[in-house]
Amino acid sequence: MAKGFSGATDELLEYADRVFHPEDEILRGIRTRAAKAGLPDIHVGRMDGLHLEILARACGSRRIVEIGTLAGYSGVCLARALPEDGKLFTFEFSPKHAELAKTSFELAGLASRVEILLGRAVENLPSVEKHGPFDLVFIDADKPSYPTYFEWAVRNLRKGGIMLADNTFAGGEIANMSLPETERLRALRNFNKSAATDPRLRSTLLPTSDGLTFSIKL
Ligand code: SAH
Ligand code: MG
Repeated sequence: MAKGFSGATDELLEYADRVFHPEDEILRGIRTRAAKAGLPDIHVGRMDGLHLEILARACGSRRIVEIGTLAGYSGVCLARALPEDGKLFTFEFSPKHAELAKTSFELAGLASRVEILLGRAVENLPSVEKHGPFDLVFIDADKPSYPTYFEWAVRNLRKGGIMLADNTFAGGEIANMSLPETERLRALRNFNKSAATDPRLRSTLLPTSDGLTFSIKL
């Protein structure tokens, strides 16, 4: 019989926490401050944050782009993988979120390695192209724009660079064909289809909290 695709139980999560310690005081503090400020609890999961750091390290990241900053949780994970002179360009639409993220990067001692670009990502992405090509692009903002972010990422990654996209299980709805196809669902399905079939990439779908599409530029 074929092995399953994903199988997290509470027991397994507790084990991973205990053995790998994915969340330190800094990251826990970001969750707490964000909750106090009334932000939605949509940061990456604890183990997913660790995955981001390790994947960014694995491809020797010096220049990273993140689309969707929120309070800086995933940004801190990514920036931790950077050398002293590396840079994370992170895009955020909400001034309130960006303000909290700024504090997060300062408290993490990473402010000099991070630039927050405030506004709609589609409008601001061209302004960082001169710093590319990039080692890693992490997509985690408005889902209907995922296909647009896909094209930008593929064009602006170096060969061997990594594209990661969060929430590609669409909260568990991605494979449920009996649901009406909302704009969000259609965009996420198109994104996965493109990642799987675009000849410029080789891709897989990692069974994380809510799915992480993982592509390497050929
Ligand atoms: N990556 C973060 C979570 C991001 S949540 C983490 O895991 O810690 C998604 C964020 O994208 C929100 O803060 C939202 O304000 C932002 N966002 C939504 N639409 C956007 C857009 N068009 N451009 C830039 N940011 C956007
Ligand atoms: Mg997400």
